[in-house]
Amino acid sequence: MNYKILVNKKNKYNFSPHNLICKKNFNNNKILVEKRTYKNYLKLKKFLKKFNYEIDIESAYRSYDEQKKLFYDIVSLKGINHALKYVQKPGYSEHQTGLAIDIALIKNNKMLFDFDINDEKFIELLHKSLYKFGFILRYPQKKEIFTEINYEPWHIRYVGKRLAKNMYFNNLCLEEIKK
Ligand SMILES: [Zn+2]
Repeated sequence: MNYKILVNKKNKYNFSPHNLICKKNFNNNKILVEKRTYKNYLKLKKFLKKFNYEIDIESAYRSYDEQKKLFYDIVSLKGINHALKYVQKPGYSEHQTGLAIDIALIKNNKMLFDFDINDEKFIELLHKSLYKFGFILRYPQKKEIFTEINYEPWHIRYVGKRLAKNMYFNNLCLEEIKK
């Protein structure tokens, strides 16, 4: 598994990850996630629990076909321009690697995700803690010129501890990393 792999609008992902594990989330949805990513996610979860934040996984691995369905569902609901702006085309979503996780926050027995998380203190703590567990915030603010994706405070990506730390302290996004 190449934990540093770059998948974006210009770099297609042509594989299927083989080391996925399956879990159920708070809403009883099936979640598939790459093994080492999950192991480190659990450490992050345990760490945040000390601050009374309960996190969960809203979405992690998505197959090519699932991404395709998601993309075309949005096309039929909201049109092609909206879809192109907010959803990645099949083959170009980082979720197909199994290394990306959309973090949810459990609050008052409800699972909050996307912009519904809406808790600045939590978001700040999450973002500054990620590197310790080998994760990066994949689509940060002010990096849209490189990532071509708007700020997503919930989307984290496993890259391994050394690279995550380097990227965090040098304020780099994955597109800026030389291969
Ligand atoms: Zn995501």
